[in-house]
Amino acid sequence: MEPKVSLNFVEEIVEKDLESGKHASIHTRFPPEPNGFLHIGHASSLCLNFGLKTKYNGKCNLRFDDTNPSTEETRYVEAIKKDIEWLGFEWDNEFYASDYFDQLYDWAVVLIKKGLAYVDDSTAEEIAEQKGTPTKPGTGNEYRNRSIEENLDLFKKMKDGVFDNGAKVLRAKIDMAAPNMLMRDPLIYRIKKEKHHRTGDKWNIYPMYDFAHGQSDSIENITHSICTLEFENHRPLYNWFIEKLGIFPSRQIEFARRNLSHTVMSKRKLLQLVNEGHVSGWDDPRMPTISGYRRRGYTANSIKNFANDIGIARRENIIDVSRLEFSARQDLNKVSTRVMAVLDPLKVVITNYPKGEMEWVELENNPEDERKTAHRMPFSGELYIEKADFMKDPPKKFFRLGPGRMSRLKAGYIIRCDGFEEDENGNVTQLNCTYFPESKSGQDTSGLKAKGVLHWVSIEHAKTAEVRLYDRLFADENPLGHEGKDFKEFINPDSLKVIEKAYIEPYLTNAIEGQHFQFLRMGYFTLDPDTTEDNLVFNRTVTLRDSWAKAKGK
Ligand code: ATP
Ligand code: MG
Repeated sequence: MEPKVSLNFVEEIVEKDLESGKHASIHTRFPPEPNGFLHIGHASSLCLNFGLKTKYNGKCNLRFDDTNPSTEETRYVEAIKKDIEWLGFEWDNEFYASDYFDQLYDWAVVLIKKGLAYVDDSTAEEIAEQKGTPTKPGTGNEYRNRSIEENLDLFKKMKDGVFDNGAKVLRAKIDMAAPNMLMRDPLIYRIKKEKHHRTGDKWNIYPMYDFAHGQSDSIENITHSICTLEFENHRPLYNWFIEKLGIFPSRQIEFARRNLSHTVMSKRKLLQLVNEGHVSGWDDPRMPTISGYRRRGYTANSIKNFANDIGIARRENIIDVSRLEFSARQDLNKVSTRVMAVLDPLKVVITNYPKGEMEWVELENNPEDERKTAHRMPFSGELYIEKADFMKDPPKKFFRLGPGRMSRLKAGYIIRCDGFEEDENGNVTQLNCTYFPESKSGQDTSGLKAKGVLHWVSIEHAKTAEVRLYDRLFADENPLGHEGKDFKEFINPDSLKVIEKAYIEPYLTNAIEGQHFQFLRMGYFTLDPDTTEDNLVFNRTVTLRDSWAKAKGK
């Protein structure tokens, strides 16, 4: 296990600020850009920001960071809100950076009037060229010396749509020789004649991230603005704007991005997977998105526990996805109803069971639940068991069925295999068994011992369902870690296996979306929204044990 840095370094800052009286109470925010669905990395940020709100009795805003009209859409706003609500977080205010466009424009004008911003006509290439390198200072250009009046006039014309995209930008006038390249006159406004998902055609110019994010924090009186490490060198700029504009002194604090093995996390890459059809959508159960996990059957608690258990770090690392799966199993064990389903059927005929009869047996819903409830399951003389639970010539340690061997049928009886039938290819088609009437579960007086316990369904009463089994979307631990190779080369071709016809106990036909089941011995399952009136579809959330660790010899 990695050393647990946990929330402490942020909490330490928060507690100091509260003790010193710098802030009477704290106010955080979660600031997604609505350019995709939330992923498991966002869950860490959510747990952190909303966790601080709860722990210190503060507030947390939801703020959509919607300053780039090219990539942002209202449907993403809706999806993000749904995911946050599903996780169980309640924001105090819902804001949009685009609500602040007028204020941001006015602040840009303030900077121009102070001689701290100028309109630059250079091309993007020229600007990059003049910027220098980490070892070579940048050089200013003639536009840097424009008069305040001219800058005010040009900036207004930029806003009014007089110029084309890319013709001009507004830059902060800081220091072209600053050791931190971001301080070498960063761009703060660009021309983008594009429709915005909320402001429509009102604006021809849009603020850059650096000129929108910190200021939005200030407008909302955010005391602690937590972001990921790649913004560490933006912090001087964040503070520069606060100082020059004399606005509320929000404080930026960075922590390490959450990375998970066997997947990719950035929304841009996830969008590629969606657009190129590698997955069925943002909520494909193989996606590392909150909506994907929900559809696959993860509980909100399993995601939050995972994020909180790992805590936050100051350095980036990759967390093995098996830790998330572990967290899912822990919670699902508590909340899942136990049922039986046979995915790969083998017919069993109980030769001494009264012909044409049936009976009801009771299956406990959840041994973890103190209420000890159960549901009824039909038992009869013709059953399906799992093919893998029989071997013609089993080794000694195989505690399931073989010729002459006994096993217990869960919640039912002990049976003995007396013989089997096979087709011309040697495939076993039927087992002929005897059952022991005195061995019924819960009232067993037979004195018989059977080590193996098998799941089963009654053929006459079973219903059918489609079952989707998922594996990791990427076969490689770190699909981004191969220089010169596209991450999509590492997509696991076997990440989805569909069983068109599995046999389920009739109780499962009452399953509803959002309910969790343990198919005994087969894993945790949930109903997929693709389910229709005559086609039930179940997703396997996770297996009962970590088969990957076993495969790797761990
Ligand atoms: P992506 O690259 O996936 O688009 P982003 O940082 O651009 O990520 P935002 O929508 O801007 O995504 O993120 C909202 C908040 O979530 C930000 O505060 C960001 O720092 C945080 N966040 C994003 N990805 C992660 C991650 N992998 N781990 C932890 N926090 C993250
Ligand atoms: Mg982003």
